[in-house]
Amino acid sequence: MIAFGALGGTISMVSGDESGIRPSLGAEDLVTSVSAAAGVRIRTATLQRVGSSSLTARQLVETLAWAEQEVDAGAAGVVISQGTDTLEETAYLWDLLWQRSEPLIVTAAMRGPEQPGADGPANVLAAFTVAASPGARDRGVLTVLDDQIHAARWVRKSHTVRTGAFASPGAAALGLLVEGEVAWTATTPRDPAVPAPDRAALAAADWPWVPLLEFHLGDDGRLARAAVDAGAAALVVAGSGGGHVSIPASDVYAELARRVPVVLAGRTAAGPVLQRTYGYQGAEIDLIARGLLPAGWLAPLKARTLTQLLLAAGADRDQLAAELARRGRLPR
Ligand code: ASP
Repeated sequence: MIAFGALGGTISMVSGDESGIRPSLGAEDLVTSVSAAAGVRIRTATLQRVGSSSLTARQLVETLAWAEQEVDAGAAGVVISQGTDTLEETAYLWDLLWQRSEPLIVTAAMRGPEQPGADGPANVLAAFTVAASPGARDRGVLTVLDDQIHAARWVRKSHTVRTGAFASPGAAALGLLVEGEVAWTATTPRDPAVPAPDRAALAAADWPWVPLLEFHLGDDGRLARAAVDAGAAALVVAGSGGGHVSIPASDVYAELARRVPVVLAGRTAAGPVLQRTYGYQGAEIDLIARGLLPAGWLAPLKARTLTQLLLAAGADRDQLAAELARRGRLPR
């Protein structure tokens, strides 16, 4: 048996009386056309009906708790459908907390069900196939869209409209679906789950505000300071290139790093934040020496998700630094 939970997103959106498509269909509607082809028993649950930008931390933890209960009740795997817009964040959050061997698959659609060539049914069917695949066990959370399988740790939404919008920049897809079967093409090391309080406590926790700020020419750090003054518990800065900011911004970030954890990620599409190449003011050696915590290979949204989760789970700055170092590194 595979459990299927629906959260909303384009895959569920149809046009009603008002303009534009909106979340509407539930889990049962999404499996109707594919359940026979899936060849496994499917248990459905409509968990939310929202655009994925409105998903809250509480809803995400409750969804995780639902998935865990389904596995405890005998599900061989779990599939969650949601919107594509924030899938790279939700899948990674669940991946950080998912401790089971059973696969947790996240899928979605780029085209609504009323559009020609709607990709929802094919994606849901492919997700069921991967969820039932023995080779998917012990791989953590995976995403399945456009017949490609990606690790939650790497996947990013890389296009606003194409059905092949999901990619793992700087890494490889883990596999693909061919003639209804899963072909695995890569493995990825799996870090242990983040130690966190029980799900009810985590869902009820006051999740701290951790804004992500992207550096741009002319950025002097004003927005970062305003964010900390307004209560940010930590900052993630997506620096240019290998993790660089301007000279004025570097002074502000160095000052802020004495007040809250400041994580240094990179705004470039792929590759890690550097640690020991550039020595000018505002470059990575200077920023790290002045207290910023490098995110390694974690993309800015992944680093932000990890930072917020750890703080919500009660981690201090040293624990955050250790987890960023561990989860941001690649084996050498
Ligand atoms: N455009 C989005 C999607 O692909 C809407 C959302 O993320 O909910 O589903």
